[in-house]
Amino acid sequence: MTSDANITQLQAEIPACQACRDLPLGPFPLFQIGAEARILIAGQAPGRRTHLAGRVFDDASGVRLRAWLGLDEATFRDPEQVAVVPMGFCYPGTGRGGDLPPRAECAPLWRARVLSSLGKVRLTIVLGRYAQAWHLPETVGLPLSTVARDWRAHWPERVLLPHPSPRNAGWVRKNPWFETELLPALRAQVASILATD
Ligand code: SF4
Repeated sequence: MTSDANITQLQAEIPACQACRDLPLGPFPLFQIGAEARILIAGQAPGRRTHLAGRVFDDASGVRLRAWLGLDEATFRDPEQVAVVPMGFCYPGTGRGGDLPPRAECAPLWRARVLSSLGKVRLTIVLGRYAQAWHLPETVGLPLSTVARDWRAHWPERVLLPHPSPRNAGWVRKNPWFETELLPALRAQVASILATD
């Protein structure tokens, strides 16, 4: 099957998924994939606002993520440039400490197939510890700050960022190298990748 056919198949199958029947707002998978995507954003799971908006990163985290990457909204939302594949496709609900973890059912069901359909990806942006476990398994158990600070170890194929939630603004302030070293390199790499086929 061609990449385009795989993508079409997944775009038909995933929205019909009913594997998690106890989701607070019901199954409503949100993801963005295209056969030509060269940047992959491996996120956590949609938040409530994103669920209600019906598209990925349609919230304050998305505004911040686009600024981090130096991408305008149109480029970010073009599936032939940027793929967005969270660890759980549906809003998992909210607990005392914020949003619940991505549903554990989701990645084993879908992730390998989705990622194998994205054959043009050159840079994976890994957000948060659930995506870290899948995309940077050699770093499991290490604190996010340690892995992110050592970003050159996986550069330029993979980079771990804190989740762009405003809740992490304090972390960004405490780690000035993130804005002075990592983000400029990241923006330059994203621009360079998207400027070429
Ligand atoms: S979270 Fe994933 S596995 Fe669960 S219903 Fe949504 S798409 Fe299906």
